[in-house]
Amino acid sequence: MENLINYFIENPIALYLAVGIFSLCIGSFLNVVIYRTPKIMQQEWHHECQLLINPDQPTTTLETQPLSLSQPNSTCPKCHSPILWYHNIPVLSWLFLAGKCASCQNPISVRYPFIELLTAGCALTVAFVLGPTIQMLGGLIVTYLLITLTFIDFDTQLLPDRFTLTLAALGLGFNSFAIFTSPSSAIWGYIIGFLCLWIVYYLFKLITGKEGMGYGDFKLLAALGAWLGPFFLPLIILFSSLLGAIIGIILLKIRKENQAFAFGPYIAIAGWVALLWGKPIMNFYLGY
Ligand SMILES: [Zn+2]
Repeated sequence: MENLINYFIENPIALYLAVGIFSLCIGSFLNVVIYRTPKIMQQEWHHECQLLINPDQPTTTLETQPLSLSQPNSTCPKCHSPILWYHNIPVLSWLFLAGKCASCQNPISVRYPFIELLTAGCALTVAFVLGPTIQMLGGLIVTYLLITLTFIDFDTQLLPDRFTLTLAALGLGFNSFAIFTSPSSAIWGYIIGFLCLWIVYYLFKLITGKEGMGYGDFKLLAALGAWLGPFFLPLIILFSSLLGAIIGIILLKIRKENQAFAFGPYIAIAGWVALLWGKPIMNFYLGY
């Protein structure tokens, strides 16, 4: 382990190559997770509702076979022909096939290579800022989970517990060894992260009778609090609100209709920035 770290300290190019290629593959997997998780959740709800209505009868009416992250194998969404392994190489296959399905020639969304490149780009930034450390390992895990949450929230306005709670648990676990902040600071980050948005939500509901946010947003901020401690929460809230306001206005102009607004992606972006550059930003701000 120590040898490997020393090797990467002496050869940073090898570190970037390893992190970059590994993260392209992770990005390819995240595409599957982002596409399938909401469908898997829908099947689970469907199953639970049927059990609730009719507990004695096993469900037989599921119109499709049960879906999981590994089964069935990936197929083209249009012609359902299986995707061969050499057509599934991150970014390169998409370029080689000129963005079209190998069987039916229907276009494959540019979002797939985009998410792969985004994952690799963000991971390389983490490696560049944090170097070959345990912090980098934590930073990569946070990056992968935040990208997953961002796109699922953007698509469905959902922040699944299976990712927010995992992110929180891993943050508390890492910081039990004081990797990013002290153990007690991580616990308070988690508690305050959850409560501060919950209070805003509750007051907003009390005054307007509307629900402005979801519980997923609280859990996501709580998770970031568990990674960074409570002192970075004001920075995350401020930056995500600013980002949300700017992008929200732009989206409103483009779409010209009142679509449901996901706040999770902005919390995720702000949290990621705080993880990498929170300390210099805070020092700069407090210096004023
Ligand atoms: Zn096809």
